[in-house]
Amino acid sequence: MNFLEARISQDGIVKEGNVLKVDSFLNHQIDISLVREMAYEWQKRFNGKKITKVLTIEASGIGLAAIVASIYNVPLLFAKKSKTLNLDGDLYQASVESFTHKTTSNIVVSKKFLNEDDYVLIIDDFLANGCALQGLISLCDQAKAHVQGIGIAIEKGFQDGGKIIRDLGYQLESLAIIDSMDAKTGTIKFRN
Ligand code: 5GP
Repeated sequence: MNFLEARISQDGIVKEGNVLKVDSFLNHQIDISLVREMAYEWQKRFNGKKITKVLTIEASGIGLAAIVASIYNVPLLFAKKSKTLNLDGDLYQASVESFTHKTTSNIVVSKKFLNEDDYVLIIDDFLANGCALQGLISLCDQAKAHVQGIGIAIEKGFQDGGKIIRDLGYQLESLAIIDSMDAKTGTIKFRN
């Protein structure tokens, strides 16, 4: 069991509907030293890749991604969720269905902050069905930015997102992959 899996086992709470709460250390209160260790682990796994920007999606990915960006010493860019379609032409936009809220939102980044000179590391807290990642990848494609890798804290391996993203050919590095979890017993099984 690695350091993140151990922390999830200790402090993660399994909710009904295949939702894991990690509010006490990852996406409400953030354990900075844990996230720093995660950032160094991603740096090791993406060793040798040119990274000029870290990209995530608001809101819960921002804290995590900010620490990764500080380790790489590059800007952090987060896609904003917007209720309305923007027709001004100054934004790249993609549509994302939220796994936790069951709503669809439009995510946007300014064309000023993403372009073909960017070598992007995408970071997010969870990977479930892969909608959030596909939205972020679409923003990069529109900007002709280069997706160098994708770092996920917790992949729910029993959902399809991981397979979809790996099949697209991206280097996806999930620090913990959950194979099953049970809300009644609180048991969480990790992939070896
Ligand atoms: P996907 O788009 O891959 O279906 O879902 C990823 C997004 O949904 C993540 O950005 C994360 O915010 C949220 N999410 C998915 N599953 C969980 C979960 O089990 N717990 C929490 N806290 N967030 C989740």
